[in-house]
Amino acid sequence: MTKVVLATRNHHKVEELREILADVCSELGLDIVGLDEFPHAPDVVEDGVTFEQNAILKAASAADVTGLPALADDSGLAVDVLGGSPGIFSARWSGGGGDLANLELLLAQLGDVRDEHRSGAFVCAAALVLPDGRSTAELGHFPGTVAREARGTNGFGYDPIFVPSGQPAGSERTLAEYDADEKNDVSHRALAFRALVPHLKELLRP
Ligand code: IMP
Repeated sequence: MTKVVLATRNHHKVEELREILADVCSELGLDIVGLDEFPHAPDVVEDGVTFEQNAILKAASAADVTGLPALADDSGLAVDVLGGSPGIFSARWSGGGGDLANLELLLAQLGDVRDEHRSGAFVCAAALVLPDGRSTAELGHFPGTVAREARGTNGFGYDPIFVPSGQPAGSERTLAEYDADEKNDVSHRALAFRALVPHLKELLRP
């Protein structure tokens, strides 16, 4: 088995990625592990200005410290009428107030924006960096609209105010009303990592 490290200490993210990449992992003999196996791994300053740059920064640091091929992701909510914001600033949009404060600030900013102008997308960049420095990244876009008020209790972040596109009119749910498996199947993260599969096959085939 070839170990591949995912640049996170969150065990749930490791499990989620093992499911998303199950087929290619079994085809190439890959074993995805988290950074919790490497307690000396430093925190990374995410000073890139795009999702791709930040994902590559995180993966490059993990590849450097572990000597293993490394995967990382960076994601956020991009609202069209705000020119793609909160974007890479999604986690700290309210200046460090946390998920609820971020969501409330965004709702207030969009208070006067009519329904037809509330479109946006969850965006995720997934990156692969090899210990020799080769790197690649792919984007996943999960389109939807920003609701007028929060609904639902599942998920995290902006899920309670994000209504995925393509749902039957009149019964639209927010992402916080999806269950975890349903979300993980269609999410920006799943799309980005699936788009990375050809690169995994090209760069990691034994
Ligand atoms: P990260 O790059 O996965 O750490 O995500 C950065 C921020 O984007 C999170 O703190 C959330 O505010 C937001 N975000 C990213 N993905 C999601 C999602 O699937 N649901 C809700 N919020 C998300």
